[in-house]
Amino acid sequence: IEEELRQSQKMEAVGQLTGGIAHDFNNLLTVISGNLEMLESSLHDEAQKELLREAQDAADDGAKLTSQLLSFGRRQPLDPKSVDVGSLLSSFSELLRRTLGEAIELRTRIRGSGHTALVDSSQLQSALLNLALNARDAMPTGGSLTLEISRAQLDRDYANMYPQVRPGDYILVAVTDTGTGMSEEVKARAFEPFFTTKGVGSGTGLGLSMVYGFVKQLGGHIQLYSEIDKGTTIRIYLPAVGAAPMRDPRDAARPDAQRG
Ligand code: ADP
Repeated sequence: IEEELRQSQKMEAVGQLTGGIAHDFNNLLTVISGNLEMLESSLHDEAQKELLREAQDAADDGAKLTSQLLSFGRRQPLDPKSVDVGSLLSSFSELLRRTLGEAIELRTRIRGSGHTALVDSSQLQSALLNLALNARDAMPTGGSLTLEISRAQLDRDYANMYPQVRPGDYILVAVTDTGTGMSEEVKARAFEPFFTTKGVGSGTGLGLSMVYGFVKQLGGHIQLYSEIDKGTTIRIYLPAVGAAPMRDPRDAARPDAQRG
């Protein structure tokens, strides 16, 4: 019985994983089909080539995601490297802009430079794409999406409110839309796997849970702010590379502090 239970839990986990990858794969396909659509209407040589190259890259990423099914299971970053999150956003924003369409104004702000985090860049792109597509869904008649990257210190007082958060230096990625916003009920459940308000065939309910898993896996932190009819902000804190971590009093050896 115990073995059976373990097995079914394992199957459930694998199912969630597979679903998650299918979801990301689907997002990548959205990019491909968006670009192909563009190709149909605009037939200028250089642009054509560039679009085809991007479609190809997305297809490659999709294939990579599927083949990395097993490493997802280990809950470890696939291929973490020091990534300048600002540069990553700059090179990714054109693709995001096209994916969002003309009704949505994409603004990117990079405050300062050298925003380095240890991440898998294709996972980070996947996360940004997930958030952008959610924002698009929340703005059916248009609006604006702002992606802002900056440095943030999470201090001891802040960390004390969230037991898993380490005080220190973080790269903050803030994603803000002017969409429908979320009710309290939706906000409370938004990060749950398979929770969706989008109905059968439209939503899988895996986007935000994937983003959450990705951020937590890196030792990061995620915050959601949303107000009905005003919009939504999701703040992602990725531990910064190359910064001395702030001292966490929870790590401090007590006897040391009490000498004398
Ligand atoms: P899915 O997009 O497939 O529904 P997600 O996990 O990405 O799955 O999102 C879960 C739910 O959270 C969505 O169905 C939607 O109700 C809500 N949501 C997510 N992002 C936004 C947003 N930017 N604005 C409003 N609601 C959102």
